[in-house]
Amino acid sequence: MSAAPRPSVAIVGAGLAGAACARALADAGFAVQVFDKSRGVGGRMASRRAEWTGPDGSPNPARFDHGAPAFEARSEAFLGFVEAAERDGLLARWAPVVDRDGRLDRDKAPQWVPTPDTPALCRALLADLPLLTGCMVDTLRHEPGGWVLEASGDAVAHGVDSVVVAIPPPQAAVLLALHRPDWAERARAVAMGPCWTLMAVTDAPAPLPAWDLARPSTGPIGLIVRSDARPGRSRVPGRAHWVVHASDAWSRTHLEDPAAEVQARLQDALAQHVGQPLAWHHASAHRWRYAHAPADAAVTGLCDWDADVGLGACGDALGGAGVEGAWRSGRALADRLVAWHREAARA
Ligand SMILES: Cc1cc2nc3c(=O)[nH]c(=O)nc-3n(C[C@H](O)[C@H](O)[C@H](O)COP(=O)(O)OP(=O)(O)OC[C@H]3O[C@@H](n4cnc5c(N)ncnc54)[C@H](O)[C@@H]3O)c2cc1C
Repeated sequence: MSAAPRPSVAIVGAGLAGAACARALADAGFAVQVFDKSRGVGGRMASRRAEWTGPDGSPNPARFDHGAPAFEARSEAFLGFVEAAERDGLLARWAPVVDRDGRLDRDKAPQWVPTPDTPALCRALLADLPLLTGCMVDTLRHEPGGWVLEASGDAVAHGVDSVVVAIPPPQAAVLLALHRPDWAERARAVAMGPCWTLMAVTDAPAPLPAWDLARPSTGPIGLIVRSDARPGRSRVPGRAHWVVHASDAWSRTHLEDPAAEVQARLQDALAQHVGQPLAWHHASAHRWRYAHAPADAAVTGLCDWDADVGLGACGDALGGAGVEGAWRSGRALADRLVAWHREAARA
């Protein structure tokens, strides 16, 4: 007797929600294929390489984690996951000294930092799974033989039993509109928060700040990360690597400003916060149009699943925001698919 074919699932999005969903489904015996429009995986758990030229003309590589710099784990399930990842060398605990308008303290709960870079966690989850990067899925068609996924008019997958959409709500709405207009409408209504981000290398200020993170309550900056002070990052003597997040309000007001202007404003604000002029070696600005999901957008059950058509949606906005919300949503959707297939096999 031949074994029943493995149920197949195509996952659009290789951020933490998609990666966690893919891993759990693959472990449960599903045939999984993952697609992402970017060159690498990780989504907003992102990392970017840069190179700057030293005074002697030498090239100097730099690497910035310009998405989530670190995250907290609150739920028991997510804590179990991060502690296992710590044992596997993928995450390090971090208890940064935080500057809140001149008051220095450490948060009670540890922060978690993926090592050696932020996308490492998603890379590990997806390590042995079929993955196509540089592929922006723009159409989902539900045909009698199964789902067809298209990118720029080409079918990149066909005959798939189920599709998981694991991308930010404004982008998900486009793919979902034809099949679940109600989900698409809800996704369009999610007010994602933007974030302008500065990545910079300077001479190390003397003395070095006594803090690892700063959270000014006024001005353009929401968060300053001494990027090379995080665990698993190497510090270059005499240099400082910074990632600066503009505040939510400032990012909204300046969303359409030219990157060069935003960069200059954030450079000034960083120097002002550090309290001395900085000798710049590299600076660039990145605009995250959809950085943060509001926590109140979460849905009951943490994800969407329509068994009649074989369509699901997950992501931080459905799971309660942030890295933890993304993971919980991806895992919840995988659990729903596994339970449904078990039930269907028994019937
Ligand atoms: C600057 C910044 C700071 C942050 N700070 C924190 C923090 O301190 N703590 C915290 O918990 N969280 C933080 N976050 C939020 C956190 O990074 C996200 O909530 C989480 O990573 C979202 O994961 P996700 O899988 O839901 O979505 P994403 O990470 O956005 O993944 C979606 C993926 O889908 C891909 N994609 C999109 N459309 C398509 C398409 N049509 N076809 C194929 N692929 C597609 C994208 O390329 C992306 O890889 C921060 C985010 C940013 C940007």
